[in-house]
Amino acid sequence: MINLGDCDTRRGFFETVRANGLENVLDRTLERIRIHLNPDAISPYIRSHRLIQTENNGSRTSTFLNPDRRIIELSSLEFQWNFPRNALNRGLFQGGVIFLRRDHWCKKTLCHESVHSFQNIEFDTKPELRLFVEGLTEFLTGCLLYEDCNYCYNAWKQGTYSYCTFTYVQWTRMFGAFCHYLPLSLLKTLYFQDGQSWDEKYNVFLDEIHKSGFPKFGDIFTGKKKIPLELRFLQECEKNFGKGQFRNLYRSKVRCLDFSNIIK
Ligand SMILES: [Zn+2]
Repeated sequence: MINLGDCDTRRGFFETVRANGLENVLDRTLERIRIHLNPDAISPYIRSHRLIQTENNGSRTSTFLNPDRRIIELSSLEFQWNFPRNALNRGLFQGGVIFLRRDHWCKKTLCHESVHSFQNIEFDTKPELRLFVEGLTEFLTGCLLYEDCNYCYNAWKQGTYSYCTFTYVQWTRMFGAFCHYLPLSLLKTLYFQDGQSWDEKYNVFLDEIHKSGFPKFGDIFTGKKKIPLELRFLQECEKNFGKGQFRNLYRSKVRCLDFSNIIK
């Protein structure tokens, strides 16, 4: 029995999931991403047979997951067995497969993990980018909810329900504030898989910022390695967009995640 909480949208959403099945609901979500975020989004992932741990009559069993399966729901115990370091996640994307933790996920989780399936595949080999990528994924998820489900978008932004409140807070807010000065399309180009490598994409990203009136925006990946990446990004934004102004915007989650004011 799914814990529906007191959100009416959640009730309706799980009725749809039950009636249509997860794979179909995933197809619809991927379609929404193409409509609202990137019409050319492609998934670079090729799934292989992988062994997962499942619960069978109370005991732990190893099962091969068919490569056709793109999405699967696991119990909390199964989630812990398979992903001990992420046991409390609501969902997880790995090797082209979306794993959802039963009773703890909702539409927001599905959107977040679905956005991952279109990301630049190089992210998988760059652990130093993990939080940057997660924050960007969450920010794009917010954009999708804003376009597609106003109720979910507001609940996400305001943290109304535990199963859809926004994650990777610092990065998500920074990207929101960033898009009050520069267009969202810059971040999309950086994120989505296409023919370009990460290095090429990042150079284009910096170039576009410079051409857009901020010629001194520095490369956050060079120099001062001891300073966390999010702080370097914050410093560059403050330096170029105005310290007090950017900080105030970034600190106000109402304003920085108000997508009616971001530059597309
Ligand atoms: Zn993620």
